[in-house]
Amino acid sequence: MIEVKHLEKYYGSDGTVTKALDDISFISYDGEFLCIMGASGSGKSTLLNCLSTIDCASAGDILFNGVSFDSLKKSELAAFRRHNLGFIFQNYNLLDTLTLGENISLSLLINGAAQGTIQKHIHDIANQVGIGHLLDKLPSQVSGGERQRCAFARAVVNSPKLIFADEPTGALDSASAISLMKIIASLNHTLHSNIFLVTHDALCASYADRVLFLKDGKIFSELVKGEKKNREFYHEILDNISLLGE
Ligand code: ADP
Repeated sequence: MIEVKHLEKYYGSDGTVTKALDDISFISYDGEFLCIMGASGSGKSTLLNCLSTIDCASAGDILFNGVSFDSLKKSELAAFRRHNLGFIFQNYNLLDTLTLGENISLSLLINGAAQGTIQKHIHDIANQVGIGHLLDKLPSQVSGGERQRCAFARAVVNSPKLIFADEPTGALDSASAISLMKIIASLNHTLHSNIFLVTHDALCASYADRVLFLKDGKIFSELVKGEKKNREFYHEILDNISLLGE
């Protein structure tokens, strides 16, 4: 469980201070697929950076299973990152000279997985994201959607507790984007991780369990999917975006 308490983030100093996060509080329970939306400059990246320990908040607290990030020593924070966090970015961030299989294996090797189990892990996760037949290909030999599915496989192969997806569909056509969202939502059920997705795309957001809308660094509103079908949730999200004045 992630608990965010009165989070504030300021950039700059003296006369040129920007308040990027303004008293943000929420709880995300284990297994939640949470989407963060808002106009450019509303604080989405700053919030994601604080949640993923890439950046420190100026005030407030973030607790993971009751433990404050602030209370962790440098070495504890490094171990926390290695074992609990997975990332997926708009531009894939795959290593071009390694095959898809080797890209996925990197995060297992870094985490000290036993040699004998690595190939099985790679094949299992690759099959789940639909790239099992492409493991010997280089990133340049597959489509953008397949690259991103590989990046997602790499992000989740260690079963991290927190997965951060920053505009993962930004470079994809709409069919590949929806296919990726279906994979993320379905694997989320299996992994029971918390997923934090930043997207501008209401259709992609409709796959999440909940959407937080940021405006000027504050939580403007939130929508919970509950038992709604994607289409109904999608229209609710669109209505909220128009209220947001984007
Ligand atoms: P979003 O991801 O929603 O586009 P950001 O979190 O990037 O929003 O930015 C929130 C606010 O903080 C914006 O006003 C932005 O200009 C400002 N900001 C973000 N990063 C920095 C930085 N490194 N230095 C100064 N201001 C920043």
